[in-house]
Amino acid sequence: MLADRSQRKSFFKNPRRVVNICFTFVFICSTLLTWREMAVLEDAWISNQRNSLDNVATALDRQLQHSVDNLLFYRNIMSYALRYPISTDKSRQAMADFERQRTHEHWQIKLDVNRSMPLNGVSDEFVGTSGLLLRDADYLHGELSGALEFSYILQLSDNSRDLQHRTYYVSRAGFYISSRPPRNDEQLVSRYYRQVARPYFAQHSERYNKGRGLIWDHTWDPTRGGDQVITASVPLDYEHRWYGVLAMDFTIDSMHQFLQRALQDGNEGVVLLYDRKFNAIATSADAMPEGKMFTPTQLAQLARAMESKNEGEIRMAHSVVTWDKLNNFDGVLVKIHSLDEGIRGEFGRISVVLGLLWVLFSAMLGGSWLLIHRLVKNMMNLQSTLSWRANYDTLTRLYNRGAFFDQAQYLADYCRQSGQSFAVIQLDLDHFKSINDRFGHDSGDRVLASAGAILSASLRGDDIAGRIGGEEFCVVLPGSSLSQASAVAERIRERINGKEILVRSGQTLHISASFGVSCSQEHGDYDFEHLQSIADGRLYKAKEGGRNRVCDSD
Ligand code: GH3
Ligand code: MG
Ligand code: MG
Repeated sequence: MLADRSQRKSFFKNPRRVVNICFTFVFICSTLLTWREMAVLEDAWISNQRNSLDNVATALDRQLQHSVDNLLFYRNIMSYALRYPISTDKSRQAMADFERQRTHEHWQIKLDVNRSMPLNGVSDEFVGTSGLLLRDADYLHGELSGALEFSYILQLSDNSRDLQHRTYYVSRAGFYISSRPPRNDEQLVSRYYRQVARPYFAQHSERYNKGRGLIWDHTWDPTRGGDQVITASVPLDYEHRWYGVLAMDFTIDSMHQFLQRALQDGNEGVVLLYDRKFNAIATSADAMPEGKMFTPTQLAQLARAMESKNEGEIRMAHSVVTWDKLNNFDGVLVKIHSLDEGIRGEFGRISVVLGLLWVLFSAMLGGSWLLIHRLVKNMMNLQSTLSWRANYDTLTRLYNRGAFFDQAQYLADYCRQSGQSFAVIQLDLDHFKSINDRFGHDSGDRVLASAGAILSASLRGDDIAGRIGGEEFCVVLPGSSLSQASAVAERIRERINGKEILVRSGQTLHISASFGVSCSQEHGDYDFEHLQSIADGRLYKAKEGGRNRVCDSD
């Protein structure tokens, strides 16, 4: 019962468990905190990437917007000229020149070399070869005078400021005006042919371009070098008649240089310009990356993400991809940032330092845990040694006098409450002094230890034994009657008397003890000290009676 009580106490107040719980808590908190910080840093890094891409997209859009605005302005000028044609000497001369040369394989009308761009044309025969082309005399005069006005305006366009490489009007009636006129006769025909053969030209027919809006197109072919362009074009219509196409070419090289310039300021990663079919057209890298940048699954993932949003980001296996759709180009800017670059960058370095700090903190925490764990273990060992020593006799390993009296009274009270009998055996070793005298004090100690071991081995259930004096012992037996206790005492006496004790090398001896037994049954008395004094009196009776015997009556 006494053991149960102390165990319950140690279960709830186990310092080692408390230390473990505290350290685990601190470790979990520090790990969660570090993880959270890492996540915040990663988010900041990604939004930094998105911002940098957003800046590039905005700058490019602004440039393109300026060019597109110019293109629409030119269309307005030509529409106006078609609505209100002006007949001047120059226009009449242009018409006369045209009529004179229209059957030639190629022709050029240069009206005012310093003020306007030349009109370049092909023959009637050429026009007749394509269903898309049409040289209708009823409308030709108006269109030629409109083109003439456009040629004056075109002279004023500032190619150094704008992103576009060239601006031009291509007529279905077999002529064109370009801000960069052809250098020779051969170019004159081939350029007209190239323009009308490009897909965007046919796409501006009333059948395909119902909204009559802007179309973006490009000639990018990774297998081909040279002069490749992105083209923005609008159809020119008047009174439901499609006259031709106004267009602007942006060289892919200029896009490439623009992206390189835009990403110069210490920004890692690579920006790519993709068309609507997800073909990479231009890049901020020195050269277009070889091979596909994305697997088909990643492309499908990107396409899905782009369906509903204009900008966003996607984490892929080893990279973060941010994207931003352009307002003024039928495509998207994509920035690919590898995680390796991220780690080498500013945010990455902070994350690495944070991770190292966490490792350092965890190592120090582990070290402190080990130290405190050892200290607590030593302290608990010391505590249990001290508490054992406070209650037990080190020689016999039985209860000492104080602890025994406490326990004995506790058991007596328990027996009184539960209506059980309670017996006490008091015993004293016979002629112990002479053992000390003959064999020495150490041998006497050995005899005491031996007697203690016999007593311990003779206890049952809730019985307890204690050394209450020099060579005096006491045993209490809860629930035992006087006769049962006497029988126990007799058995112990026999064991003590029968035991051959080695007192020094090669020397053994037999000892004996005298016993006094008392029981609560006799007077209904459960006061331990009283029962013990009764047993003590009977013990001396046993001594007087010749020793080595049990006495259980007065
Ligand atoms: P009796 O049969 O009448 O009991 O004789 P006795 O010699 O046993 O009784 P006495 O009370 O005269 O002697 C007790 C002796 O026990 C005295 C003391 O020296 C010895 N003693 C007490 N404590 C210890 C101890 O811890 N170790 C040893 N070796 N001797 C002890
Ligand atoms: Mg004695
Ligand atoms: Mg004695």
